[in-house]
Amino acid sequence: MAYKVFIVKCPDYEHSDEMMKVLFSMMGDIKQFVHPGEKVLIKPNLLSAADPEKAVTTHPRILAGVCKFVEQGGGAVLIADSPGSGIPYNRKSLEKCYERCGIYDIALKNSWELNYNTEYKQVSFQEGSLIKQFEIIAPVLDADVLFNVCKLKTHVFMHLTGAVKNMFGVIPGLKKPGYHSKLRNKGYFARMLIDLIRCIPPRLSIMDAVVGMEGNGPSGGTPKNIGYLLASENPLALDIIAGEIAGLSPKDNPVLTEARRLGITPNSPEQVELIGADFSEIRCRDFKLPDTLLKGGGLKLVDRLSPLFVNVFTRKPHIRKDICIACGACKRACPESAITIINSAGEDAAYAEINHKKCIRCYCCHEMCPENAVQLTGGLLYRMFSG
Ligand code: SF4
Ligand code: SF4
Repeated sequence: MAYKVFIVKCPDYEHSDEMMKVLFSMMGDIKQFVHPGEKVLIKPNLLSAADPEKAVTTHPRILAGVCKFVEQGGGAVLIADSPGSGIPYNRKSLEKCYERCGIYDIALKNSWELNYNTEYKQVSFQEGSLIKQFEIIAPVLDADVLFNVCKLKTHVFMHLTGAVKNMFGVIPGLKKPGYHSKLRNKGYFARMLIDLIRCIPPRLSIMDAVVGMEGNGPSGGTPKNIGYLLASENPLALDIIAGEIAGLSPKDNPVLTEARRLGITPNSPEQVELIGADFSEIRCRDFKLPDTLLKGGGLKLVDRLSPLFVNVFTRKPHIRKDICIACGACKRACPESAITIINSAGEDAAYAEINHKKCIRCYCCHEMCPENAVQLTGGLLYRMFSG
């Protein structure tokens, strides 16, 4: 069975309303996706309170296009997410995110509901290959249906974040470091994500790849004009196409590697039917993958090594004292309590410092730093196996 992914060109956000209509019309009857009266939870990527131009979060115009689609189908819109690792899932942090990411204004203008319910519940998932119980934010569980509105970005730990990784946002922010602590190996973390999309399957995933992120994403990379909007009922299928766009081989994508191990499809481009373009024309030119990527079987190697050797083969996070503002976001995100804020009387009055003996290379500090003060450096062994 071929899994369908729909794709349209969209050169910029000025044209996104029009191009989203084209995308949805290609997908057929709206009744397949929204039924009148349904409460539809729309889950964007709200990693942190960042301006839309930084390409860290789903662009508000894409979110607006999806909300309008849901309304046309007779659904009631609720926008919800729990921001990244270490950010408390509370009203204050949600308000900050909605406002800075441009979502508050579009919601207010169109009378779309923004979530402020900060409860979460334990959900049993006995079918899970690794995780049998998840903590999930309550609005996701209370909704009739979930729409996953993700962004195409690189990711220093998982190499790519798209439809599958975006679903990690349904876990409350302060619970996220615990998953990193327990699942240090990329393969185990990927397996957890696969369990999560099976536990809480989105009915539809829509990807904002108009401007994505290249380099050391998901927050410290560089915005990249890609020029596509994509949609699929299957988040794995959507990520396979995102990988084709970015030039990330399926064997270097931990999620697809694990899906293959578990016998879950789709896990390779041959199993996907791309509608709207040919595979040969979608590759984004000069797309820069993360520095942490060990190509050509490196992923397999690192996944088999003991944690001691993993640190020899992977990039090491370092904090630049001259840039650090001692905000503590990295400390709150660190699952191993490896980060301390140092207060000194000298030139760098306060800064964060990493205890590398405790570090497990999850890169949550890099992901959550608002100042890009966490740099990733690699030694000789790393360079032998990279690029
Ligand atoms: S490294 Fe970044 S996140 Fe950590 S304290 Fe400094 S500025 Fe904040
Ligand atoms: S210091 Fe190490 S363990 Fe802590 S968040 Fe950074 S990469 Fe992860």
